[in-house]
Amino acid sequence: MTHSTDTLADDRNQRLFERAQALIPGGVNSPVRAFRAVGGTPRFIQRAQGAYLWDANGQRYIDYIGSWGPMILGHGHPAVVEAVQKAALEGFSFGAPTEREVELAEEILRLVPSMEMLRLVSSGTEAGMSAIRLARGATGRPKIVKFNGCYHGHADSLLVKAGSGLATFGHATSAGVPPEVVQHTLVLEYNDVAQLEEAFALHGSEIACVIMEPIAGNMNFVRASVPFMQRARELCTQHGALLVLDEVMTGFRVALGGAQSLYAQQIPGFAPDLTVLGKVIGGGMPLAAFGGPRAIMEQLAPLGPVYQAGTLSGNPVATACGLATLREVARPGFYERLGERTRSLVQGLEGAAREVGLPFCTDSQGGMFGFFLLPQLPQDYPQVLRTDGPRFNHLFHGLLGRGVYVAPALYEACFVSAAHTEEDIEATVAAAREVFAELV
Ligand code: PLP
Repeated sequence: MTHSTDTLADDRNQRLFERAQALIPGGVNSPVRAFRAVGGTPRFIQRAQGAYLWDANGQRYIDYIGSWGPMILGHGHPAVVEAVQKAALEGFSFGAPTEREVELAEEILRLVPSMEMLRLVSSGTEAGMSAIRLARGATGRPKIVKFNGCYHGHADSLLVKAGSGLATFGHATSAGVPPEVVQHTLVLEYNDVAQLEEAFALHGSEIACVIMEPIAGNMNFVRASVPFMQRARELCTQHGALLVLDEVMTGFRVALGGAQSLYAQQIPGFAPDLTVLGKVIGGGMPLAAFGGPRAIMEQLAPLGPVYQAGTLSGNPVATACGLATLREVARPGFYERLGERTRSLVQGLEGAAREVGLPFCTDSQGGMFGFFLLPQLPQDYPQVLRTDGPRFNHLFHGLLGRGVYVAPALYEACFVSAAHTEEDIEATVAAAREVFAELV
Protein backbone atom coordinates (compact mmCIF):
# COMPACT_ATOMS: atom_id res chain seq x y z
CA MET A 1 0.00 0.00 0.00
CA THR A 2 1.59 3.31 -0.94
CA HIS A 3 0.24 6.73 -0.16
CA SER A 4 2.23 8.81 -2.61
CA THR A 5 0.23 11.84 -3.62
CA ASP A 6 2.16 12.07 -6.92
CA THR A 7 0.13 9.30 -8.50
CA LEU A 8 -3.27 10.76 -7.70
CA ALA A 9 -5.17 12.36 -10.57
CA ASP A 10 -6.97 14.64 -8.12
CA ASP A 11 -4.73 15.36 -5.13
CA ARG A 12 -6.93 17.20 -2.65
CA ASN A 13 -3.99 17.81 -0.29
CA GLN A 14 -2.18 19.62 -3.09
CA ARG A 15 -5.27 21.62 -4.07
CA LEU A 16 -5.85 22.67 -0.46
CA PHE A 17 -2.18 23.56 -0.06
CA GLU A 18 -2.35 25.82 -3.12
CA ARG A 19 -5.47 27.54 -1.77
CA ALA A 20 -3.90 27.88 1.67
CA GLN A 21 -0.65 29.33 0.31
CA ALA A 22 -2.56 32.18 -1.30
CA LEU A 23 -4.17 33.07 2.03
CA ILE A 24 -1.87 32.00 4.87
CA PRO A 25 1.93 32.51 4.85
CA GLY A 26 3.45 29.20 3.72
CA GLY A 27 -0.07 27.75 3.72
CA VAL A 28 0.16 26.85 7.40
CA ASN A 29 -0.52 28.34 10.82
CA SER A 30 2.68 26.98 12.39
CA PRO A 31 5.87 26.62 10.34
CA VAL A 32 6.81 22.95 10.86
CA ARG A 33 3.49 21.85 9.34
CA ALA A 34 4.63 23.13 5.92
CA PHE A 35 7.07 20.23 5.28
CA ARG A 36 9.74 22.82 4.37
CA ALA A 37 12.57 20.69 5.76
CA VAL A 38 11.47 17.43 4.12
CA GLY A 39 9.81 18.83 0.98
CA GLY A 40 6.53 17.68 -0.57
CA THR A 41 2.90 18.44 0.10
CA PRO A 42 1.67 18.69 3.69
CA ARG A 43 -1.22 16.38 4.42
CA PHE A 44 -4.42 18.27 5.18
CA ILE A 45 -6.05 16.24 7.90
CA GLN A 46 -9.75 15.67 7.65
CA ARG A 47 -10.38 13.55 10.70
CA ALA A 48 -8.71 11.38 13.29
CA GLN A 49 -9.68 8.46 15.48
CA GLY A 50 -7.60 6.47 17.93
CA ALA A 51 -4.07 6.17 16.55
CA TYR A 52 -5.03 7.19 13.00
CA LEU A 53 -5.28 10.29 10.88
CA TRP A 54 -7.07 10.52 7.54
CA ASP A 55 -6.01 13.14 5.01
CA ALA A 56 -8.06 15.02 2.45
CA ASN A 57 -7.52 12.19 -0.05
CA GLY A 58 -9.01 9.73 2.44
CA GLN A 59 -5.63 8.08 3.06
CA ARG A 60 -4.94 6.74 6.52
CA TYR A 61 -1.79 7.23 8.57
CA ILE A 62 -0.61 5.79 11.87
CA ASP A 63 -0.06 9.03 13.78
CA TYR A 64 3.17 9.45 15.75
CA ILE A 65 2.80 13.24 16.00
CA GLY A 66 -0.36 13.33 18.11
CA SER A 67 -0.77 17.07 17.52
CA TRP A 68 2.87 17.47 18.66
CA GLY A 69 2.21 15.82 21.99
CA PRO A 70 -1.22 16.49 23.47
CA MET A 71 -3.06 13.42 22.15
CA ILE A 72 -1.75 10.92 24.68
CA LEU A 73 -5.02 8.96 24.70
CA GLY A 74 -5.20 8.93 20.92
CA HIS A 75 -7.87 10.83 19.03
CA GLY A 76 -11.53 10.93 20.01
CA HIS A 77 -11.28 9.13 23.36
CA PRO A 78 -14.95 8.60 24.34
CA ALA A 79 -14.65 10.00 27.91
CA VAL A 80 -12.89 13.11 26.63
CA VAL A 81 -15.33 13.67 23.79
CA GLU A 82 -18.23 13.34 26.20
CA ALA A 83 -16.70 15.82 28.65
CA VAL A 84 -16.06 18.34 25.88
CA GLN A 85 -19.58 17.98 24.46
CA LYS A 86 -21.13 18.51 27.87
CA ALA A 87 -18.93 21.54 28.58
CA ALA A 88 -19.68 23.08 25.17
CA LEU A 89 -23.41 22.85 25.85
CA GLU A 90 -22.89 24.71 29.11
CA GLY A 91 -21.06 27.62 27.44
CA PHE A 92 -17.84 28.31 25.55
CA SER A 93 -16.27 31.06 27.62
CA PHE A 94 -17.35 33.26 30.49
CA GLY A 95 -14.34 35.42 31.38
CA ALA A 96 -15.10 34.54 34.99
CA PRO A 97 -13.82 31.78 37.26
CA THR A 98 -15.35 28.29 37.11
CA GLU A 99 -15.40 25.20 39.30
CA ARG A 100 -13.68 23.17 36.60
CA GLU A 101 -10.59 25.43 36.71
CA VAL A 102 -10.36 24.72 40.42
CA GLU A 103 -10.72 20.98 39.79
CA LEU A 104 -8.06 21.03 37.09
CA ALA A 105 -5.68 22.99 39.33
CA GLU A 106 -6.31 20.50 42.16
CA GLU A 107 -5.64 17.54 39.86
CA ILE A 108 -2.40 18.97 38.41
CA LEU A 109 -1.08 20.09 41.80
CA ARG A 110 -1.87 16.69 43.27
CA LEU A 111 0.16 14.99 40.57
CA VAL A 112 3.09 17.44 40.38
CA PRO A 113 4.05 18.03 44.03
CA SER A 114 6.77 20.64 43.32
CA MET A 115 3.93 23.03 42.40
CA GLU A 116 1.90 24.56 45.22
CA MET A 117 -0.02 26.94 43.01
CA LEU A 118 -0.46 27.38 39.29
CA ARG A 119 -2.01 29.65 36.76
CA LEU A 120 -3.77 28.43 33.61
CA VAL A 121 -3.08 30.03 30.25
CA SER A 122 -3.82 29.09 26.64
CA SER A 123 -0.49 28.05 25.10
CA GLY A 124 2.94 26.79 26.05
CA THR A 125 4.41 30.01 24.68
CA GLU A 126 2.32 32.08 27.06
CA ALA A 127 3.16 29.82 29.98
CA GLY A 128 6.92 29.94 29.31
CA MET A 129 6.93 33.68 28.72
CA SER A 130 4.95 34.27 31.92
CA ALA A 131 7.22 31.98 33.95
CA ILE A 132 10.24 34.00 32.77
CA ARG A 133 8.56 37.28 33.71
CA LEU A 134 7.66 35.84 37.09
CA ALA A 135 11.23 34.60 37.65
CA ARG A 136 12.59 38.04 36.81
CA GLY A 137 9.96 39.77 38.94
CA ALA A 138 10.45 37.48 41.92
CA THR A 139 14.26 37.68 41.89
CA GLY A 140 14.59 41.28 40.69
CA ARG A 141 17.25 40.07 38.23
CA PRO A 142 17.40 40.51 34.45
CA LYS A 143 19.32 37.56 32.98
CA ILE A 144 18.05 34.17 31.91
CA VAL A 145 19.97 31.07 30.90
CA LYS A 146 18.62 28.78 28.20
CA PHE A 147 20.15 25.95 26.20
CA ASN A 148 20.88 25.63 22.51
CA GLY A 149 18.23 23.39 20.93
CA CYS A 150 15.65 23.79 23.69
CA TYR A 151 12.45 25.49 22.56
CA HIS A 152 10.24 27.35 24.99
CA GLY A 153 7.75 28.92 22.62
CA HIS A 154 8.09 32.01 20.47
CA ALA A 155 8.32 34.82 23.03
CA ASP A 156 10.93 37.40 21.92
CA SER A 157 13.49 36.85 24.68
CA LEU A 158 13.53 33.09 24.06
CA LEU A 159 14.12 33.14 20.32
CA VAL A 160 17.88 33.03 20.67
CA LYS A 161 20.59 30.79 19.36
CA ALA A 162 23.92 30.15 20.97
CA GLY A 163 26.72 32.67 20.78
CA SER A 164 30.10 31.52 19.52
CA GLY A 165 32.15 31.48 22.73
CA LEU A 166 31.62 30.06 26.18
CA ALA A 167 28.96 31.80 28.24
CA THR A 168 28.35 34.46 25.61
CA PHE A 169 25.04 36.08 24.87
CA GLY A 170 23.28 34.84 21.77
CA HIS A 171 21.70 36.33 18.68
CA ALA A 172 18.01 36.51 17.89
CA THR A 173 16.89 33.66 15.64
CA SER A 174 14.00 35.67 14.27
CA ALA A 175 13.80 38.98 12.45
CA GLY A 176 11.75 41.43 14.47
CA VAL A 177 13.59 40.76 17.73
CA PRO A 178 15.89 43.73 18.51
CA PRO A 179 19.30 42.80 20.03
CA GLU A 180 18.37 44.70 23.21
CA VAL A 181 15.50 42.26 23.79
CA VAL A 182 17.82 39.24 23.86
CA GLN A 183 20.76 40.96 25.53
CA HIS A 184 19.89 39.30 28.82
CA THR A 185 19.47 35.79 27.36
CA LEU A 186 22.51 33.60 27.83
CA VAL A 187 22.53 30.52 25.58
CA LEU A 188 24.64 27.53 26.56
CA GLU A 189 25.11 24.02 25.18
CA TYR A 190 22.81 21.42 26.70
CA ASN A 191 24.48 18.91 29.01
CA ASP A 192 27.64 21.06 29.31
CA VAL A 193 28.31 21.36 33.04
CA ALA A 194 31.49 23.44 32.58
CA GLN A 195 29.67 26.12 30.56
CA LEU A 196 26.93 26.33 33.14
CA GLU A 197 29.47 26.73 35.93
CA GLU A 198 31.26 29.42 33.95
CA ALA A 199 28.00 31.27 33.30
CA PHE A 200 27.22 31.35 37.01
CA ALA A 201 30.79 32.32 37.88
CA LEU A 202 30.54 35.30 35.52
CA HIS A 203 26.93 36.38 35.97
CA GLY A 204 25.56 34.49 39.02
CA SER A 205 24.17 37.47 40.90
CA GLU A 206 22.27 38.68 37.80
CA ILE A 207 20.70 35.38 36.73
CA ALA A 208 16.95 35.23 37.40
CA CYS A 209 16.52 31.68 36.14
CA VAL A 210 17.77 28.73 34.18
CA ILE A 211 15.06 27.38 31.88
CA MET A 212 15.39 23.96 30.31
CA GLU A 213 13.50 21.08 28.77
CA PRO A 214 14.42 18.16 31.06
CA ILE A 215 14.15 15.84 28.08
CA ALA A 216 14.59 18.06 25.07
CA GLY A 217 11.97 17.20 22.49
CA ASN A 218 12.82 20.06 20.21
CA MET A 219 16.17 18.54 19.30
CA ASN A 220 14.50 15.17 18.64
CA PHE A 221 14.97 13.44 22.01
CA VAL A 222 17.95 14.33 24.18
CA ARG A 223 17.92 13.80 27.93
CA ALA A 224 19.52 16.15 30.38
CA SER A 225 22.15 13.97 32.02
CA VAL A 226 21.63 13.43 35.74
CA PRO A 227 24.90 15.25 36.69
CA PHE A 228 23.89 18.18 34.48
CA MET A 229 20.43 18.44 36.07
CA GLN A 230 21.89 18.07 39.53
CA ARG A 231 24.51 20.78 38.91
CA ALA A 232 21.86 23.10 37.45
CA ARG A 233 19.80 22.64 40.61
CA GLU A 234 22.81 23.25 42.88
CA LEU A 235 24.00 26.34 41.01
CA CYS A 236 20.53 27.90 40.99
CA THR A 237 20.12 27.32 44.72
CA GLN A 238 23.63 28.59 45.49
CA HIS A 239 23.16 31.79 43.48
CA GLY A 240 19.53 32.50 44.32
CA ALA A 241 18.32 31.84 40.77
CA LEU A 242 15.19 29.82 39.92
CA LEU A 243 15.30 26.52 38.08
CA VAL A 244 12.45 26.50 35.57
CA LEU A 245 11.62 23.16 33.98
CA ASP A 246 9.74 23.48 30.74
CA GLU A 247 7.61 20.35 30.81
CA VAL A 248 5.23 21.52 28.09
CA MET A 249 6.18 18.40 26.15
CA THR A 250 7.31 16.01 28.89
CA GLY A 251 4.62 16.83 31.48
CA PHE A 252 2.16 13.91 31.77
CA ARG A 253 3.87 12.46 28.68
CA VAL A 254 6.98 10.71 29.99
CA ALA A 255 5.57 9.90 33.46
CA LEU A 256 2.57 10.86 35.57
CA GLY A 257 4.63 13.39 37.54
CA GLY A 258 6.52 14.59 34.44
CA ALA A 259 10.26 14.28 33.83
CA GLN A 260 10.91 15.96 37.18
CA SER A 261 9.53 12.87 38.95
CA LEU A 262 12.15 10.76 37.13
CA TYR A 263 15.02 13.08 38.12
CA ALA A 264 13.70 13.15 41.69
CA GLN A 265 14.23 9.36 41.77
CA GLN A 266 17.92 9.87 41.01
CA ILE A 267 18.72 13.19 42.69
CA PRO A 268 17.71 13.24 46.37
CA GLY A 269 15.30 16.10 47.13
CA PHE A 270 15.23 17.27 43.52
CA ALA A 271 12.50 19.70 42.48
CA PRO A 272 12.39 22.67 40.11
CA ASP A 273 11.28 26.07 41.36
CA LEU A 274 8.86 26.70 38.50
CA THR A 275 7.26 24.22 36.12
CA VAL A 276 5.78 25.02 32.73
CA LEU A 277 3.10 22.68 31.38
CA GLY A 278 1.03 22.49 28.19
CA LYS A 279 0.04 19.93 25.56
CA VAL A 280 -1.28 16.87 27.51
CA ILE A 281 -2.92 18.99 30.23
CA GLY A 282 -5.23 20.39 27.55
CA GLY A 283 -5.85 17.03 25.87
CA GLY A 284 -5.79 18.74 22.45
CA MET A 285 -7.47 22.01 23.43
CA PRO A 286 -5.59 25.30 23.92
CA LEU A 287 -4.51 25.08 27.54
CA ALA A 288 -1.20 25.41 29.40
CA ALA A 289 -0.05 26.34 32.89
CA PHE A 290 2.88 27.47 34.95
CA GLY A 291 3.31 27.01 38.65
CA GLY A 292 5.55 26.65 41.66
CA PRO A 293 5.80 27.55 45.33
CA ARG A 294 3.10 29.77 46.82
CA ALA A 295 5.55 32.54 47.78
CA ILE A 296 6.66 32.92 44.16
CA MET A 297 3.24 32.45 42.56
CA GLU A 298 1.71 35.09 44.83
CA GLN A 299 3.97 37.63 43.13
CA LEU A 300 1.47 37.49 40.23
CA ALA A 301 -1.33 40.01 39.70
CA PRO A 302 -3.79 40.58 41.32
CA LEU A 303 -1.79 39.82 44.49
CA GLY A 304 1.67 40.88 43.45
CA PRO A 305 3.51 43.19 41.06
CA VAL A 306 4.08 40.73 38.14
CA TYR A 307 1.36 41.27 35.54
CA GLN A 308 -0.16 38.37 33.65
CA ALA A 309 -3.66 37.85 32.21
CA GLY A 310 -5.72 36.18 29.45
CA THR A 311 -9.23 36.50 27.96
CA LEU A 312 -9.49 32.75 27.36
CA SER A 313 -7.30 31.55 30.26
CA GLY A 314 -8.91 28.56 31.99
CA ASN A 315 -11.40 28.25 29.15
CA PRO A 316 -14.29 26.03 30.27
CA VAL A 317 -14.25 23.68 27.25
CA ALA A 318 -10.46 23.36 27.34
CA THR A 319 -10.44 22.67 31.08
CA ALA A 320 -13.09 19.96 30.60
CA CYS A 321 -10.92 18.36 27.91
CA GLY A 322 -7.79 18.57 30.09
CA LEU A 323 -9.51 17.21 33.18
CA ALA A 324 -11.01 14.24 31.35
CA THR A 325 -7.59 13.50 29.84
CA LEU A 326 -5.76 13.69 33.17
CA ARG A 327 -8.32 11.40 34.80
CA GLU A 328 -7.52 8.75 32.20
CA VAL A 329 -3.74 9.03 32.46
CA ALA A 330 -3.88 8.93 36.27
CA ARG A 331 -5.31 5.40 36.18
CA PRO A 332 -2.93 2.82 37.65
CA GLY A 333 -0.52 1.27 35.16
CA PHE A 334 -1.19 3.81 32.39
CA TYR A 335 2.45 4.90 31.93
CA GLU A 336 3.83 1.39 32.34
CA ARG A 337 1.65 0.19 29.45
CA LEU A 338 2.41 3.26 27.35
CA GLY A 339 6.15 2.91 28.02
CA GLU A 340 6.09 -0.76 27.03
CA ARG A 341 4.35 0.02 23.76
CA THR A 342 6.83 2.78 22.97
CA ARG A 343 9.78 0.53 23.83
CA SER A 344 8.37 -2.21 21.66
CA LEU A 345 8.29 0.28 18.77
CA VAL A 346 11.80 1.65 19.20
CA GLN A 347 13.29 -1.80 19.77
CA GLY A 348 11.53 -3.00 16.61
CA LEU A 349 12.96 -0.08 14.67
CA GLU A 350 16.46 -0.66 16.04
CA GLY A 351 16.24 -4.36 15.15
CA ALA A 352 15.11 -3.57 11.60
CA ALA A 353 17.99 -1.09 11.18
CA ARG A 354 20.50 -3.63 12.52
CA GLU A 355 19.33 -6.21 9.96
CA VAL A 356 20.54 -3.96 7.14
CA GLY A 357 23.51 -2.42 8.99
CA LEU A 358 22.07 1.09 9.11
CA PRO A 359 23.54 3.43 11.75
CA PHE A 360 20.45 4.11 13.83
CA CYS A 361 19.68 4.67 17.49
CA THR A 362 16.67 5.55 19.57
CA ASP A 363 15.66 6.68 23.03
CA SER A 364 12.25 6.79 24.66
CA GLN A 365 10.46 7.52 27.90
CA GLY A 366 6.77 6.89 28.52
CA GLY A 367 4.96 7.88 25.35
CA MET A 368 7.75 10.01 23.84
CA PHE A 369 10.56 8.80 21.60
CA GLY A 370 13.28 9.93 19.25
CA PHE A 371 15.27 8.21 16.54
CA PHE A 372 18.52 9.23 14.93
CA LEU A 373 20.33 8.17 11.79
CA LEU A 374 23.50 8.26 13.89
CA PRO A 375 25.64 5.55 15.46
CA GLN A 376 25.11 6.86 18.98
CA LEU A 377 22.72 9.07 20.90
CA PRO A 378 23.58 12.78 20.74
CA GLN A 379 24.02 14.82 23.91
CA ASP A 380 23.48 18.31 22.50
CA TYR A 381 22.11 20.17 19.51
CA PRO A 382 25.29 20.32 17.38
CA GLN A 383 25.47 16.52 17.68
CA VAL A 384 21.80 16.16 16.67
CA LEU A 385 22.52 18.22 13.57
CA ARG A 386 25.14 15.72 12.40
CA THR A 387 22.18 13.68 11.09
CA ASP A 388 22.25 13.45 7.32
CA GLY A 389 19.27 15.62 6.28
CA PRO A 390 18.61 14.08 2.83
CA ARG A 391 18.62 10.57 4.31
CA PHE A 392 16.22 11.63 7.05
CA ASN A 393 13.95 13.16 4.40
CA HIS A 394 14.02 9.90 2.43
CA LEU A 395 13.08 8.02 5.58
CA PHE A 396 10.28 10.46 6.38
CA HIS A 397 8.73 10.23 2.92
CA GLY A 398 9.27 6.47 2.74
CA LEU A 399 7.29 6.07 5.96
CA LEU A 400 4.63 8.60 4.99
CA GLY A 401 4.14 6.84 1.67
CA ARG A 402 3.56 3.63 3.62
CA GLY A 403 0.97 5.19 5.93
CA VAL A 404 3.22 6.09 8.88
CA TYR A 405 3.29 9.74 9.91
CA VAL A 406 6.34 10.76 11.95
CA ALA A 407 7.57 14.30 12.63
CA PRO A 408 8.58 16.03 9.39
CA ALA A 409 11.87 17.34 10.78
CA LEU A 410 14.88 15.55 12.22
CA TYR A 411 14.94 17.75 15.32
CA GLU A 412 11.43 16.87 16.55
CA ALA A 413 10.39 14.12 18.97
CA CYS A 414 7.60 11.66 18.17
CA PHE A 415 4.79 10.31 20.34
CA VAL A 416 2.99 7.04 21.00
CA SER A 417 -0.54 7.16 22.42
CA ALA A 418 -2.56 4.72 24.48
CA ALA A 419 -4.56 4.00 21.31
CA HIS A 420 -1.59 2.54 19.39
CA THR A 421 -1.91 -1.23 19.25
CA GLU A 422 0.75 -3.90 18.90
CA GLU A 423 -0.50 -4.32 15.30
CA ASP A 424 0.17 -0.62 14.64
CA ILE A 425 3.68 -1.06 16.00
CA GLU A 426 4.29 -4.13 13.83
CA ALA A 427 2.97 -2.33 10.74
CA THR A 428 5.27 0.61 11.51
CA VAL A 429 8.33 -1.60 11.93
CA ALA A 430 7.48 -3.45 8.69
CA ALA A 431 7.24 -0.13 6.83
CA ALA A 432 10.52 1.06 8.36
CA ARG A 433 12.25 -2.20 7.37
CA GLU A 434 11.42 -1.54 3.71
CA VAL A 435 12.62 2.08 3.86
CA PHE A 436 15.78 1.23 5.80
CA ALA A 437 16.74 -1.19 3.00
CA GLU A 438 16.60 1.77 0.58
CA LEU A 439 18.90 3.83 2.80
CA VAL A 440 21.95 1.56 2.86
N1 PLP B 1 7.89 24.48 25.37
C1 PLP B 1 8.12 23.30 24.78
C2 PLP B 1 9.08 22.33 25.41
C3 PLP B 1 7.47 22.97 23.59
O1 PLP B 1 7.71 21.79 23.01
C4 PLP B 1 6.56 23.90 23.03
C5 PLP B 1 5.86 23.62 21.77
O2 PLP B 1 6.14 22.69 21.06
C6 PLP B 1 6.36 25.11 23.68
C7 PLP B 1 7.03 25.36 24.86
C8 PLP B 1 5.41 26.12 23.14
O3 PLP B 1 4.11 25.67 23.27
P1 PLP B 1 2.95 26.23 22.31
O4 PLP B 1 3.25 25.73 20.94
O5 PLP B 1 1.70 25.67 22.91
O6 PLP B 1 3.00 27.72 22.38
